[in-house]
Amino acid sequence: MYAIGVKRDTSGPQLLEIPRPEPAPGEALVRTLRVGVDGTDHEVLDGTHGGFPAEEEHLVLGHEAVGVVEEPNDTEFNRGDVVVPTVRRPPAGGNEYFERGEADMAPPEATLERGIDGAHGFMSEYFTSPAEYLIDVPDRLAEYGFLTEPVSISEKALELARQSRAGFSWVPETALVLGNGSLGLLTVAMLVEEMETYCLGRRDRSDPTVDVLDMLGATYVDGRETPVSEIPNRYEAPDLVYEATGYAEHALTGVQALAPNGVAALLGLPGPDERSVDLGAYHKDLVMHNKAVVGSVNSGPRHFRAAAETLDGLDATFLDALVTTLADYREFESAFATDASTIKAAVQFHEF
Ligand code: NDP
Repeated sequence: MYAIGVKRDTSGPQLLEIPRPEPAPGEALVRTLRVGVDGTDHEVLDGTHGGFPAEEEHLVLGHEAVGVVEEPNDTEFNRGDVVVPTVRRPPAGGNEYFERGEADMAPPEATLERGIDGAHGFMSEYFTSPAEYLIDVPDRLAEYGFLTEPVSISEKALELARQSRAGFSWVPETALVLGNGSLGLLTVAMLVEEMETYCLGRRDRSDPTVDVLDMLGATYVDGRETPVSEIPNRYEAPDLVYEATGYAEHALTGVQALAPNGVAALLGLPGPDERSVDLGAYHKDLVMHNKAVVGSVNSGPRHFRAAAETLDGLDATFLDALVTTLADYREFESAFATDASTIKAAVQFHEF
């Protein structure tokens, strides 16, 4: 069968011919429908994040997938069920995080991540997975179900943020999403019905991501004109900040911009960024204004189930505008483009 992967000795994604996997006991064989591409895939391709499976010369890419059960094998699934796989898998010997069903809380050294770090991903005509890592979703998610994984990332981060404010009466009225990539835009779509939502980017109009923000009814903030530190004065101080830029300064300015009792959720993966800051003022502001900061990575089965429900409720016009590229696996190159017209891309392997 064909797969899209990266090899140790060459750069860039390529079409690989590899054996079709055989499901082991407790595993189902899944016929892949679509697999999304995100910022993390580009980091894997750049070699700045993740790594190859031990003693293998290639890594099959892809961690945002939707497929159909082809062979249920001895699992509880039926042939034809639409499923979405979770990403993390236990390293040899397993560990307490996986035993507790909290793989998403494992530190990086205590987990493998399919398509990212140490385990093959889902960007292939078929893949196998233990049943416990497959989430059953409605058939109508066959088309956009690959977005369940990124939505689940925000389900977890927003859950952690809300839980950090659960000790008092917290009714967020304003959110600031930093980053107008696919994760930022999906999060705006999740928040905008509930609260006034601003989204910071660094693009000139006209731009497809800004058009999507207009369509959603969110306010676009051009960070080159209005940096995060100016947002409370120019607009209003947000109760919730969701950082999806990977720009390290936002971990500081996002917290400073918060309204009293607010919370900032940090999602981005920045590179090294050294600078001089007044840590005393930062520390005192956190304390005196009862602010919170949460870091959040990955997501668990509970978040995937919530995400499938959220995705099912999102407007079809928004999803059509968000997914700008759908490439057949034999002509996959356009799914890895990084031009300004691409928001979210996916590779298609089979029709439902
Ligand atoms: P993208 O690269 O698609 O989006 C990042 C967006 O942030 C881009 O639109 C970029 O704008 C914008 N941006 C970057 N720097 C700035 C800045 N200084 N000011 C304003 N806008 C800025 O990535 P994703 O949406 O896929 O993911 C967002 C981040 O979240 C990434 O860092 C990714 O690694 C991380 N991530 C974390 C996960 C987790 O579990 N914690 C899971 C998935 C992703 P432009 O395009 O114009 O350059």
